[in-house]
Amino acid sequence: MDLTPQQLVRRLSRESQARTRATLGKQPTPDAGRAAAHGAYSYADEQLRHLLVLQPEPKAACTEGCSWCCYGGCVAVTVPEAIAIAAQINALEDETVKSGIMDRLQTQSAFVKQHGAAAAWAPRLACPLLDQAAGTCIVYDSRPLKCRAWASLDSEACKRSTQAGGNSDPSIPLDPAQGLVNEAVQMGQVEALAASGLDGSRYELVTAVLTAIQTPEAIERWAAGERIPASLPIPATSPSASARRRMTVPSDQRAKNRAKRDRKRQRK
Ligand code: SF4
Repeated sequence: MDLTPQQLVRRLSRESQARTRATLGKQPTPDAGRAAAHGAYSYADEQLRHLLVLQPEPKAACTEGCSWCCYGGCVAVTVPEAIAIAAQINALEDETVKSGIMDRLQTQSAFVKQHGAAAAWAPRLACPLLDQAAGTCIVYDSRPLKCRAWASLDSEACKRSTQAGGNSDPSIPLDPAQGLVNEAVQMGQVEALAASGLDGSRYELVTAVLTAIQTPEAIERWAAGERIPASLPIPATSPSASARRRMTVPSDQRAKNRAKRDRKRQRK
């Protein structure tokens, strides 16, 4: 059966919602929140793999070591995502790396609180979770769905945009499949949190992660249904319009029909 991008978004967010609710259970805990975030990451990866078999083009230009999109941006995370990232940082064995992250989180969090979430990472400022020398994300396994959604088709365009001051230039061509899947899964997570009586707001990454590390009692209260007081909420958005516009989802049957037409054309 063919799915329009809108139908696909609805299906993914519905399934993401159901999975998140099942993982949170009737009496959510911070640990269940962490498990829900990782469940969402696995689900998004699995769906993306499936989608890329049906629609392999266009291919994202992102490669290991390319990190232009980790500068001068602002990432919105759910509380479970912040818990998952905080847990990965807490588990780091290298104390130097860990204290470097904590210093950067604190500096940047102070900046965010002073200037607001929209200006979160100020021009050319790196995400505190980036290993700048290697160009890799230190919390790669727990990186937020928003980061997973931002896959570029043109790394030179990302470079130009970041060097000009920020990475949100609307002319950067983005991979519609990665944007659609990851954003739809995050939407489902937001809906599941609200349906479970939890704070489903999305928060600015830096302040949210710092809150989860420094004030675990705030996370306990979140699991009991309270809001996170110390972070800055960012309004939730639907999957980017450009992703929806450019996304088409061919079914197996449509792909077969196309191959048949191509064969006919070649015979002519
Ligand atoms: S969390 Fe990781 S992937 Fe996302 S902006 Fe920071 S360093 Fe980059």
